[in-house]
Amino acid sequence: METAAVASKDVTVSLAEKKPKVVFVLGGPGSGKGTQCAKIVQHFGYTHLSAGDLLREERDSGSENGTMIKNMMNEGKIVPSEVTIKLLQKAMVENGNDKFLIDGFPRNEENRAAFEAVTKIEPEFVLYFNCPEEELERRILNRNQGREDDNIETVRKRFKVFLESSLPVIEYYKAKGKVREIDAAKPIEEVFEAVKVIFAPKVEKVKSSRCSSCAIL
Ligand code: UDP
Ligand code: MG
Repeated sequence: METAAVASKDVTVSLAEKKPKVVFVLGGPGSGKGTQCAKIVQHFGYTHLSAGDLLREERDSGSENGTMIKNMMNEGKIVPSEVTIKLLQKAMVENGNDKFLIDGFPRNEENRAAFEAVTKIEPEFVLYFNCPEEELERRILNRNQGREDDNIETVRKRFKVFLESSLPVIEYYKAKGKVREIDAAKPIEEVFEAVKVIFAPKVEKVKSSRCSSCAIL
């Protein structure tokens, strides 16, 4: 136990020293978070951490939390912050990059507050993929990733949890001017065009008082 506690403290200290740049990626189930994150990684050098993937790995690893995670995911419920945050912290420290896309987290206010309290990291911004429910359902029921929670009953629960618990997180960051919203109901490439604009380095517009002919001098 002691070793685990020390290890967890070491991870927290190490992360606090590195202070990586973090972008939270949020949106309903099936809104394209994972797909777009893969493209952002290719173009902009971030490391993609999907909270859902980390939880699925933990569930399948035979850890003591495995059954609890499985049950919660199958109900579309939010796994306790402590579990998810530990996995995210560990993944960030082990990876060592200085910029991360954290996909599918924070899912509620408690997740958000706990992450900030433990890591002392504030996100640079929140990328929000906005997509209507009918389109989300259509995509999830058409994709075949073998996920136990990709059935109509659980999808509806997941969407309800998104509206009730995750939208308030988006509102919180909106009030801080940190939300970059994307219309995610479009085809993948069109959505990525909008995403690129957000991640591309901003070129300062140089105000010039010189007239065009001055350039010749
Ligand atoms: N989940 C959670 N906390 C998180 C991320 C995911 O509890 O921070 C659980 C939750 O039960 C959710 C499921 O994992 O319904 C699947 O999440 P994922 O992000 O993989 O699904 P997506 O929203 O991308 O379809
Ligand atoms: Mg996902």
